[in-house]
Amino acid sequence: MKKLFPALFIAFVFSLISCGQTKTSESFTAMNTFMTLSIYSSSAKKANSVCKQIQKKINELEGIFSTTLPDSDVYYINHNKKLPDPMKPDLLEILNFSADMYKKTDGAFNPALYSVIREWGFTTENYKVPSVQRINELLFHTDYSALCNSSFAANVSVTDGMELDFGAIGKGYAADQAVKILEENGIKSALLDFGGNIQTIGRKSDGSLWRVGIKNPWTGDAACALKVEEKAVVTSGGYERFFEDADGNRYIHIFDPKTGRPSESNLESVTIICPSGKYADCLSTALFVMGKDTGIEWWKANPDINFDFIMITKDRCLIYSENIQDFIEPLYQFASIEVVTR
Ligand code: ADP
Ligand code: MG
Repeated sequence: MKKLFPALFIAFVFSLISCGQTKTSESFTAMNTFMTLSIYSSSAKKANSVCKQIQKKINELEGIFSTTLPDSDVYYINHNKKLPDPMKPDLLEILNFSADMYKKTDGAFNPALYSVIREWGFTTENYKVPSVQRINELLFHTDYSALCNSSFAANVSVTDGMELDFGAIGKGYAADQAVKILEENGIKSALLDFGGNIQTIGRKSDGSLWRVGIKNPWTGDAACALKVEEKAVVTSGGYERFFEDADGNRYIHIFDPKTGRPSESNLESVTIICPSGKYADCLSTALFVMGKDTGIEWWKANPDINFDFIMITKDRCLIYSENIQDFIEPLYQFASIEVVTR
């Protein structure tokens, strides 16, 4: 996970009455990002209690997945080179899910890149361009399949040099856990914003669809609006976090696992729309790395994974999958707009 701080739960709560339902909002910082929960319920007391449960769960997940908290399970793995005993169910689930997606994306999504990403300075902000030799030395230890073959039993040893980082899926996984808590508590309408990872539960309290903005990489405004219900909407973008060298070359925080270098994708951003937050988060990173053509082919070849995509290319084109064409509204003068069918 990027750089994770202990959750600073500087929370503020307010309630608004709308359409007979009370909207309860709570914002806090966790997983190194600003999160907002908006819950619609006839009982503000219940909504407040649900907010607390979700915060508690996110705190707990941060305590497992953080790469920087010395008490976290991932920190333990990275420093002790073995899986913890006992193994927490959330850790086991994310290890297994990551193994599946590592294989399915042919390694475009790789949770074992931490040593490489750190070498470039993305965890400390002491940015530098490492030598090719150093990158290759570190890349040698990033074969996640070596760990996948262990079936992730407790105490299994982790290849020397391998370091894990669930930064590309942690927020999506956390959103799925939040949805479970909302469902268990009978909440039918809610919007979660985990640092731009959006998760919608049901519809708005007035029965209409949620309207989510997709960021314009060049202006920071909305490039398009998307109407959704019951979906995660997650964007990975090269414009989010990067550094530049003296010659103005840009190095972004999404890495190409094959080269050990920041991705030089022909995309500015990829947005994934699907019911599950962890799939959306994982695939937004993976398709970004794959780039436009391979990403589209991957979508066509994997109809069993229920997802749609929106790509914004570096040459200012908008490309999206057919299922969302009645729900997307471009708000920017794109060079071209393409709808992709299977
Ligand atoms: P963000 O969470 O910053 O909005 P992403 O979901 O795309 O964006 O995750 C990017 C983070 O994932 C990086 O900061 C890094 O920790 C990690 N990462 C970078 N490249 C990859 C990759 N190819 N596969 C898996 N994780 C990656
Ligand atoms: Mg992601």
